[in-house]
Amino acid sequence: MNSSSRVQREIAKVWTVNHQRNSSTHKAGLILEPGRWEEFDPFLLMAEDWFGRGTFDFHPHRGMETVTYVLEEKLEHKDNHGGHGVLSPGDVQWMTAGSGIIHAEEPAGETVHTLQLWINLPSSKKMTEPRYQDLRKEDMPERNEEGARITVFSGSSAGVKAQTDNNVPITMVDVELEKDASVTQDLPGSFNGFIYVLEGKGYFGKSETPGERNQVLWLGPGEEKAESEVAVRADEKLRFLLYAGEPIGEPVVARGPFVMNSDEEIRQAYDDYRMGKFGR
Ligand code: FE
Repeated sequence: MNSSSRVQREIAKVWTVNHQRNSSTHKAGLILEPGRWEEFDPFLLMAEDWFGRGTFDFHPHRGMETVTYVLEEKLEHKDNHGGHGVLSPGDVQWMTAGSGIIHAEEPAGETVHTLQLWINLPSSKKMTEPRYQDLRKEDMPERNEEGARITVFSGSSAGVKAQTDNNVPITMVDVELEKDASVTQDLPGSFNGFIYVLEGKGYFGKSETPGERNQVLWLGPGEEKAESEVAVRADEKLRFLLYAGEPIGEPVVARGPFVMNSDEEIRQAYDDYRMGKFGR
């Protein structure tokens, strides 16, 4: 399909992430604030964190996935199923909590700087087997255009396809553009999505909405059955992440680290956790 037959996405909203110090070991900002379930569907929340050891010691999750992108320093993860790994800058950990996992997220050294996105799971997959996919930057497929490098962590970009296994269809790309370079990212018309700018300045979407470092650009809707795309032009050297996904359209009841469809299922999650059904 050529570019002209695709619906051009607008940028519907822009906001700036406000970073605050929560404690002596933790500074954080919300990229997507929790509670806007319908608007952000299938995404639940996203945070940017700088943290030291002990900030995210062993804790449970159920009913969702976390996608953790390491920006600076190294992240070590451990869980109660024997899982363990260390991720470097540019690497991503895709964790499916499913029926339940207990894990710890720690800097390998003094501190680590990460982005963590929570993705909802549909009711049919909330109790799926827990698993990880460690996605190393050097193993990910790359799309190269003039002045543009697109690393594909999930989904595809102009036919360059990641092997990442999705429970919910998600496009996740890391885009680096030289000054004045342009690129378009194709997306199914049904997907909701957003861009988070890591570095530089550029113009985004059909109306060339300006955006810069620390800003979130929420994409306007596509057309349900038509392919769409987002055009971006770099005003200066630009780096951003684009995440988009198929909405689930189910009720969300979230409490702490559990994301289910009903209050009853949340009570069940707490009971199961207390009774050791997540493992020790
Ligand atoms: Fe966690």
